[in-house]
Amino acid sequence: MTMHATRRALMSAALTAPLWANWAARAAAQERDADAIIYNGRLITMDDAQGPAMPRATAMAIKAGRIMAVGDDSVRGLAGKATRLIDLKGACVVPGFIDCHNHPIGDVLLYETLVGNPYEVEFVTIQSIIDKLRAKAAATPAGYWVDGYFHDDTKLKDGRQLTVDDLDKISTTHPVMVRHRGGHTVFVNSFALKLAGVTKDTPNPPGGTFDRLPDGRLSGRITDNAIDLVEERGQRPVLDAAEKAKRARAGMAHISGAFSRYGLTTVHHQGGDLAAIQDVRAAGQLTHRVSYEARGAFLDQMVAGGLKTGFGDDWIRLGATAEHTADGSFSERTMALSTPYAGRTPAYYGNVTEPQDVLDAWVEKIVRAGIQPNIHANGDVAIDMALTAFERAEAKLAVKDLRPKITHCTLVNEGLLKRMAALGAVPAPFTSYAYYNSDKFGFYGADRMAHAMAFRDFLDHGIKVCAGSDFFPGPFAPLMGIQGMVTRTGWNGETWGANQKVSVLEAIRINTLHGAWAAKEEAIKGSLTAGKLADYVVLADDPTAIAPDKIKDIKIIETVVDGRSQYRLS
Ligand SMILES: [Zn+2]
Repeated sequence: MTMHATRRALMSAALTAPLWANWAARAAAQERDADAIIYNGRLITMDDAQGPAMPRATAMAIKAGRIMAVGDDSVRGLAGKATRLIDLKGACVVPGFIDCHNHPIGDVLLYETLVGNPYEVEFVTIQSIIDKLRAKAAATPAGYWVDGYFHDDTKLKDGRQLTVDDLDKISTTHPVMVRHRGGHTVFVNSFALKLAGVTKDTPNPPGGTFDRLPDGRLSGRITDNAIDLVEERGQRPVLDAAEKAKRARAGMAHISGAFSRYGLTTVHHQGGDLAAIQDVRAAGQLTHRVSYEARGAFLDQMVAGGLKTGFGDDWIRLGATAEHTADGSFSERTMALSTPYAGRTPAYYGNVTEPQDVLDAWVEKIVRAGIQPNIHANGDVAIDMALTAFERAEAKLAVKDLRPKITHCTLVNEGLLKRMAALGAVPAPFTSYAYYNSDKFGFYGADRMAHAMAFRDFLDHGIKVCAGSDFFPGPFAPLMGIQGMVTRTGWNGETWGANQKVSVLEAIRINTLHGAWAAKEEAIKGSLTAGKLADYVVLADDPTAIAPDKIKDIKIIETVVDGRSQYRLS
């Protein structure tokens, strides 16, 4: 403690000394009284004890970061002299939204060149991408990478794909890479291909492709396992440790604020800088709770050091593993399918990125270590592989309540659904995609889309499906997700897989209570229930009462975590 702080502490002790006489009475009152009471609201509690039909209340008392009571406005009886009474004036309150799959790349949002909109549907021109990256190239030494982030190939006003010819206009002395926000495809210029020694005669590596133009030249589009072969060449600025740490902290604080603006109170992070998350929390800038999903060296250290799923506290806890990739991408059309993609010669079935025996061994190692496994599987072939690995580990190790997570779990069938239900598997399908990516679904067609992002099927099979925005590939706005799950209609007015619609209450449940379940946190999160953490969102309108196509535009008035306001609409 510094001298200054010591003096301050002594002074404040002196100021409160006269009150000590009343200390016992005050303490007793404080123990009884709520810190805050919200009332005159429309609370959608999601509390199963109230029954699923009408999980409603009008008031809630909060004490020490927890929910003290939920009910009608008689809850106001818990108020004491110091209790804050907050009139909601009819606003709607839902449990804090939980995003079970998110890559929180706040540092990219802050420090890199963004060629698309991370949060909303927005169309850009190829020329705007060229202009932004030309400016970046002008400030970058020759030979160093010029990268563009958040590209979406179906959000181009030009109505065609980027090509190597477009990117050659940016630079012929820098390698240029435009990264699709989906994370499984990139677009590069001729200089980047040359650096990597890739020519039109280079064979595709297993689980990846160098795509061609109709005239046989390389198009510059590269998918999945082929990306590394190009990305590892060229130079990138080397940041020193202090700069890296600074950026990681600034990025985490930045994205935490964005999560709160959109109503997220818990986010499952795919890896990232755990030290930065702790630093940002210590600085009072972490406004959401983190379920940290480890990968790589840190996951290895968890296995070696005996750190299991659940270690941590209510703000930062080790969750499942990060997604362990078994196949390619849904939005970028590289997921592993049992039937071939349309219009490709030779027949293309997508990319399986790991053989079954390797996947089996990985799952067994993770489950043995007491860690919840999590596999990225989009196509039916990959989901089958993930389930096979889980079933094998469960039988061999006789584990209980494993809740193996399947990230995305996009294209299912009856057989896969039955196996998931039997296993208690937790799928985390795309949520915002139904609205945001409706421009990509024609590629798959109506038959496949009737079984994709199959929220209705999951619920009907008793599977506790949760929400996985997959930011950065998908926007993370939970209300955009809920609108898409309820309407299955996208920004362009197209409806895909209408048979998979769920009700508004079901969609909220998927985004709250089921999210808590996915991380084994259902005892403390996911519903407005006495004893649970006081994490909730105040909405200007009731999503169950508004036109379904207006849900995404409902204003978030306030986001509360731990009983404290983390965001308030100004
Ligand atoms: Zn992901």
